[in-house]
Amino acid sequence: MHAQAGMLASTFTCSHEGVESYLVRVEARLTKGLPGLVIVGLPDTAVREGRERVRSAIRATQCEFPLRRGLVNLSPASRRKVGASFDLAIAVALLAAAGQCEQSSLDGTALLGELGLDGRIRPVAGGLPAARAAGRAGIQRIIVPAQNAAEAAVCPDIQVFCGESLEDVVATINSGFDRPPVVFDGKATAGSVQQSYDVDLSEVRGQPAACRALEVAAAGGHHLLMSGPPGTGKTMLARRLPTILPPMSLQESIETTSIHSIAGMAGPGPLITTRPFRAPHHSTSAAGMVGGGNHPTPGEISLAHNGVLFLDELPEFSPRILNLLREPLQDRRLTLSRSAGKLTLPASFQLVAAMNPCPCGFHASRSKRCECSEAALGRYRSRLSGPLLDRVDMHVVVSSLTFGELSGKPRAPSSRAVRERIVRARQCRNERQHRETADLVAGPLATMLRQAVERLGLSARGIRSIVDVARTIADLDEADAVSSTHLAEALQYRRPPWSQA
Ligand SMILES: [Zn+2]
Repeated sequence: MHAQAGMLASTFTCSHEGVESYLVRVEARLTKGLPGLVIVGLPDTAVREGRERVRSAIRATQCEFPLRRGLVNLSPASRRKVGASFDLAIAVALLAAAGQCEQSSLDGTALLGELGLDGRIRPVAGGLPAARAAGRAGIQRIIVPAQNAAEAAVCPDIQVFCGESLEDVVATINSGFDRPPVVFDGKATAGSVQQSYDVDLSEVRGQPAACRALEVAAAGGHHLLMSGPPGTGKTMLARRLPTILPPMSLQESIETTSIHSIAGMAGPGPLITTRPFRAPHHSTSAAGMVGGGNHPTPGEISLAHNGVLFLDELPEFSPRILNLLREPLQDRRLTLSRSAGKLTLPASFQLVAAMNPCPCGFHASRSKRCECSEAALGRYRSRLSGPLLDRVDMHVVVSSLTFGELSGKPRAPSSRAVRERIVRARQCRNERQHRETADLVAGPLATMLRQAVERLGLSARGIRSIVDVARTIADLDEADAVSSTHLAEALQYRRPPWSQA
C-alpha cells in the first residue's frame, strides 16, 4: 500500500429521504494538527456520534487509527444525513486516506453499515433501496452488513459483498474483491413461491353481498367503503382482501420491500412476497399516516403500497388526515411540499374503509334500535366530505347476520378460487386498456347512465368511476360488452352507504 497516498481519499455510501435512497460521496482528508475527527455535510447527531464508533472500531482492527486531524465531508451537503449507516464508509475512507486501504479498489464502491465499538458491522435499514440507488448511479459494487446481504442482492445492477467486521471489509477491499459476490436466491422469493396468508375468505360466514363487493373491488383495484353495525365482520372481510388479490410481481415486491426496509421493517426473507395489509388506528398522527416531519420516513400509506390500507371507523379519523388521503386515493402517490423542495411518496394502495351507520352503530339494524338524533346522524355523516367519498368507488352495506347465517357452515368460496377469477378479470382489463370507457357513455347504456347521474347527482369523477366498476364486473363475467345488469350493479355500489339500507 502506498503510505503517502496524498492523505485524501473518497468512497460512497447511501442515505434516504422519504422512501427514496440516494448516493452520498464520502471524502476524508488527513492533515497535520491535533488528532481529531470532524464530520461536515449536514450530519445529524447519530452521524456525528459515529466519530467515537469509527475511532473505536479502527482500533479494534490490525489497522492504526491515523494520529492526525481528520476531516470527513459528506456530499451533497444540502441533504440532511441521518442515522448510523455512514460509519463503515467513513472508517474505510479514513483508512484509505491513511494509506491503509486501497483507494483504487474503492473507486466504484459504496459501503453501508453501522460499526460496533469492537469493529463488528451491524445491520441497517434500507439495504435494498441503497443497493438500487447505488446501481442506478453507476456504482459497480456495494459492501453491506451480512444481515442486509440477501435483500441487497435482489438488485441486479450491482455486485453485493458483505462483511462481518471492519477488518473483514478492509481485507475484501485490499484483495481487490477477490471473492465471489453474494448471489440473489430467486427461489426463495416472488414468482416461484405461492404467497401464503394465515386467513382465508372461506372462513367468512354469510355476507354474500359484501363478499361479492370485495371480489369486484379486488378485480378492479377499486376503493371500498363498508358500512354496518359493530360485530358484522367488516374487519374480518377487509383482512381477507389481500388474499384474493393477484400475486405480487417481482417489481411490486422490490418496491414494497424497499419501503419497508427504509422503515426498518424488512421481513425474514430477502423480499416481501405477500401484499401488505396496514390497519392504522384512527388516532394515528398525520405524520404517521403519510410520512413527513423533518426527516420523512414512510407513513402508513406508503407501507401499504401495492397492498391494502384498512381504515376502520373512517369518520373518526381527523379531517386533516381524511383530506390528505384525497391525493393518494386518486393519484396513487402523495406529494409533500417542504422547505427543501417537493417530496413524492409512493402510495399505490387499495383502500378498504369501514364505518358504523351512525354514532351508536345500530341505524337500520335488525337486532337493535338506533338511539341517535337526526342532528347527530347528520354530523356523523358530514365528517366524510363529498370529495373524499367521491374518490371511494364502491360503497356496500354489511348487515347483521341472521341466526341461520351465524350457525351455518362457512359459505364463502376459498381465497384461491376467487383469486383465480380475479387474475383472469385483470388480464381482460389489461388487454382492453379502458377503450370501452367512451363507448359506454355514448352507447346503448347511455340513457340508463344519464338517468342515474341525474338521480345521484354524480360528478364527472363519479361517472368515470361507475363506468370503470361496471367494466370490472363485465370482466369478472368474462363478457366483451358491459350489459345493463353490470351497469346496474355498479350503480348500486355508488349510492352513499346510508341510503342503501
Ligand atoms: Zn344510532
